[in-house]
Amino acid sequence: MSPPIHVTVWGEYRHEKKNPKVAAHYPQGMHETIAGFLRGAPDLKVRTATLDEPEHGLSEDALYSTDVLIWWGHMAHDEVKAEVVARVQRRVLEGMGLVVLHSGHHSKIFKALMGTPCSLKWRESTDKERIWNICPSHPIAAGLGEYFEIPAEEMYGEPFGIPTPDELIFISWFSGGEVFRSGATWRRGHGRIFYFRPGHETYPTYHLPQIQLVITNAVRWARSTVRIPDACPNTAPLEPLPGT
Ligand code: ZN
Repeated sequence: MSPPIHVTVWGEYRHEKKNPKVAAHYPQGMHETIAGFLRGAPDLKVRTATLDEPEHGLSEDALYSTDVLIWWGHMAHDEVKAEVVARVQRRVLEGMGLVVLHSGHHSKIFKALMGTPCSLKWRESTDKERIWNICPSHPIAAGLGEYFEIPAEEMYGEPFGIPTPDELIFISWFSGGEVFRSGATWRRGHGRIFYFRPGHETYPTYHLPQIQLVITNAVRWARSTVRIPDACPNTAPLEPLPGT
């Protein structure tokens, strides 16, 4: 049996403490709901971390033993320390996977890895979201049909200020008329990154089976397979060189 995939679910964990509507959906926090369904997968070993823990729960040791980091943040992006962002970025470049959820599009770590503003259109109203699976052969889309629907969600619309994805897996349509690239992958260094759009805090989105399936698939796809620290060595030739 292959070794377990070590997952850290990072949650900002602020909306849940301030807004009773959010707490009603996620009494232990969104991070615990996400960790909860991931713990049902026998190949995953899951811990959580939150903003208000020392070093945001992302010490060198914690990140060193993480194969995939999941990130949900929104109202307190600015409070994430630059040194922690730099540490996470370095770990992704070394090979750690990163799954960025919903409003994490504006997190410091996602913007640092993308190198673009990552801005978008948004609306909190009564939109329905239809998520089209446009890459059914991709491991992240395994087990999904041609599309699935979320009865009510916040709208995110194009243009989305991201670099062109390596792979585009999902496109969302909203009943207000907009569309959005809602599931996309990139490689940065030796790490794999997946952005997944749904998950506004006032809706019970992370309780939906299709959403849980996509996140579980994404963790397995993004898992770290190497750990290669940055190096820029001066090296001796492998064969004798004439004239030396
Ligand atoms: Zn939102």
